[in-house]
Amino acid sequence: MNILIIGGAGYIGSHVTREFLDNGHDCTVYDNLSSGLRENLFPQARFIHADIHDYPLLLETMKGGFNAVIHLAAYKAAGESMLKPEKYSHNNIAGTINILNAASEAGIKNIVFSSSAAVYGNPQYLPIDEKHPTLPENYYGFTKLEIERFLGWYEKLKGINYASLRYFNAAGYDVKGRIKGLKQNPANLIPIIMETARGVRKEMQIFGNDYDTPDGTCIRGYVHVSDLSAGHVLALDYISKNNKSLTVNLGSEEGFSVLEVVDIARKVTGKPVPAKTAERRKGDPSKLYDSSSLALEILGWKARYSDMETILKTSWEAYKK
Ligand code: UDP
Repeated sequence: MNILIIGGAGYIGSHVTREFLDNGHDCTVYDNLSSGLRENLFPQARFIHADIHDYPLLLETMKGGFNAVIHLAAYKAAGESMLKPEKYSHNNIAGTINILNAASEAGIKNIVFSSSAAVYGNPQYLPIDEKHPTLPENYYGFTKLEIERFLGWYEKLKGINYASLRYFNAAGYDVKGRIKGLKQNPANLIPIIMETARGVRKEMQIFGNDYDTPDGTCIRGYVHVSDLSAGHVLALDYISKNNKSLTVNLGSEEGFSVLEVVDIARKVTGKPVPAKTAERRKGDPSKLYDSSSLALEILGWKARYSDMETILKTSWEAYKK
């Protein structure tokens, strides 16, 4: 298929692009490089350096005969979204409306969207399946949920099939070491641990140790980015062949506390990773991990690389250089 990957130079986007290329698809990456990196581009994929807010260019691009759009262009820091909601409204919501309108005008029939476990908010039960109520705890999660609602309407009114993939915490690096770009100023736990192990940071912070969890730190489900990428390929195949939409969790069905992740990272890297307890971060649910049995049932998808050791080892391979 001919695929337009918006946000394809980013951390998840570059892994997703690699996976589509490996599966023999034609890929074009559309990215403004605001957080994406040139070193994440592959010679086999065309690259358009542009912004989703440039509607004329977005539309002209979409008219290039694409079968599908993969939309990964969004800000993703839950903590920041609570302090700068305007930034998240503009990019995540208004930007997506441009993408949907352009796809609709260009007659593109399939869209795969990076949604998030943040749509669920504080769990009412665990593990979280797709039937769990959606009550986001942070503004980032709200933007993802709003977009899911738009997708539902554009499906009904414009016949665009969508796959909404609710990622749990994406982490790790390409197991074959082909992706080298490191995110600048990361806000997520594992890149911060890696920077601390590397000595880029003297010390990291653990946000809160008084949560209702065995060691008091938040529990999250993590999923290897290569597993996520495989999920995109399967999801696009499913929606395009069945002319049908889909909303599924993608996770490893296992939860790790912040302290557990730091501990395993110390073993994997052999570095001390100094960490001190700090205030809770706003908008953080205490526990979040998934059931991904629906993805297995519908797509035949299952995490293969998402054990915490592999996530941390592949991350360290990228960071230690
Ligand atoms: N976290 C932390 N220190 C950091 C970054 C994150 O203790 O420097 C915690 C954060 O509070 C949350 C977990 O690690 O409980 C995962 O956070 P992350 O930002 O990676 O993902 P999110 O849960 O927001 O999707």
